[in-house]
Amino acid sequence: MDNLKLTVQRQGRLNEKSLKLIEDCGIILTQEGKRKLVSVSRNFPLELLYVRDDDIPQYVFDGVADIGIVGENVVLEKGKDVKIIERLGFAKCRLSLAIPQTEKYTGKDYFQGKRIATAYPRILQKYLMENKIDAEIHEISGSVEIAPGIGLSDSIFDIVSSGSTLVGNRLKEVEVICHSEAVIIVTPHLLKEKKSILDDLLFRIQSVQRSKNNKYILLNAPNDKLDKIVKLLPGMKSPTIIPLYEKGWSSLHSVINENEFWEVINKLKEYGAQGILVTSIEKMII
Ligand code: ATP
Ligand code: ZN
Repeated sequence: MDNLKLTVQRQGRLNEKSLKLIEDCGIILTQEGKRKLVSVSRNFPLELLYVRDDDIPQYVFDGVADIGIVGENVVLEKGKDVKIIERLGFAKCRLSLAIPQTEKYTGKDYFQGKRIATAYPRILQKYLMENKIDAEIHEISGSVEIAPGIGLSDSIFDIVSSGSTLVGNRLKEVEVICHSEAVIIVTPHLLKEKKSILDDLLFRIQSVQRSKNNKYILLNAPNDKLDKIVKLLPGMKSPTIIPLYEKGWSSLHSVINENEFWEVINKLKEYGAQGILVTSIEKMII
């Protein structure tokens, strides 16, 4: 049977996390394989193709690769007919308009007649049209943030995450146009035979993703507070409760979403829970 072909960024911000995700799914990639342009896993019908991130939507659209891991910003910019089938939660950033710190920002109309430098002309064009802003787009492929400083443009439209690059170039973010994270895209031409490999891969990815968002929690609690604690920690189906040797006490095991953890922990202490242990989960299958 044919392998499923996955294209990932060869070098850069997405590379390491894309490969880590595949490895977390129990798919073995050989060390030497990672240095080549193509590598094949020896325990899963998956073939990896390493390319520049900008080329990923095209490769997937053409069917040279079946799926790809790429920033949503690149998917939007390229405008190819590929489908996003999973959001991966890493490489989170936003695309924003920024202007020199010394300028007074008066709202979106500030950009009327301005020159905007960007590596994302398509996304910017769409935004300008939707907002009826008549501005001049200067497409450049890199170091966009220096454009205003060297007189190439009045403002920029670029990727922002912490904002420190903007500050370093005496710019300020004035409009957030969209958010982005790494996503999996799939070709419109996926062969039927490969669909089941893709489903298997997605199943693994989803259990890895879910495990990252959840923690396993164990604690000791007085029996008369168990009902209250169970309501706080409903777990996957329901928590496990095991009696302790000491009378009137039980050990409770459950699963908790990481985002809710700190909120819940104070209540647990209030209900007399003791010896609370929280550990990470490697895989989570529901
Ligand atoms: P390539 O050489 O493959 O073309 P690149 O230089 O275009 O790489 P990277 O800088 O490696 O791209 O960024 C890849 C993706 O990571 C971007 O398209 C974006 O989705 C995301 N990204 C970029 N900058 C940041 C950031 N500061 N924080 C978080 N994510 C980011
Ligand atoms: Zn790129």
